[in-house]
Amino acid sequence: MADLVIEADLLKDDIVRLLIVMLFVLSGISPGIAGPAAGTSSEKPATSLEIINCTVVIDPGHGGADPGTIGYRGTLEKDVALAVSSRLASFLEQAGVKVVMTRGKDQEPDDSGKESLSLTKTQDLARRVAIANQSKADLVLSIHLNHFSDRTEYGAQAFYQHGSLTGKRLAQCIQTQLNGLLVDSGRQALAGDFFVCRNSQMPAVIVEVGFLSHPEEELALNDPAYQTRAAWAIYSGLVNYFY
Ligand SMILES: [Zn+2]
Repeated sequence: MADLVIEADLLKDDIVRLLIVMLFVLSGISPGIAGPAAGTSSEKPATSLEIINCTVVIDPGHGGADPGTIGYRGTLEKDVALAVSSRLASFLEQAGVKVVMTRGKDQEPDDSGKESLSLTKTQDLARRVAIANQSKADLVLSIHLNHFSDRTEYGAQAFYQHGSLTGKRLAQCIQTQLNGLLVDSGRQALAGDFFVCRNSQMPAVIVEVGFLSHPEEELALNDPAYQTRAAWAIYSGLVNYFY
């Protein structure tokens, strides 16, 4: 009897969370929408009970001694990646999703909990993968910023591991929302060979939220409202993936 009561309470909690998510998503409300270059999404995301019971690893790229790419005006990739990741974590947690962050502050992931300053690139990525695999997560979202020698290149893009059908579908769902809610650069989800995607035991997608080498996009990426909208786009893509 006690078990039944507990289960009923859990179910009630799940339904309340689901209703809150549906209200947000189906109404098209995007928190912090006042940022630059607001777009409209042609695809309304929905949600299902599946998302509530899943675990998502969010992997903010770089951190600590590794700044990642550096923008035209000096923006550090590690800072924007963490800002977008934290907002994404908040949206997911509000929906009842269990979130595991590979880093929650400006440091590289470290098994010992102490700051680590001299990891090689491979060691750093291997620790991120270990966190994902140990968490038995359903999905991994690795958040990065792009850079290119041609400063006119702009727009967000999702990448997935060659041969991963689930990774491809997740990347496509996220790409649709990025194009609709941030800026439609016409970019499509792309396959490639990535350490984190290849070695994670669950579907993993890398989201390059924009180009720090593009002066205007760099400004937008520094805007907290734009960071919130980017996180909302990724979240909406994830909800669509589960729908
Ligand atoms: Zn990066």
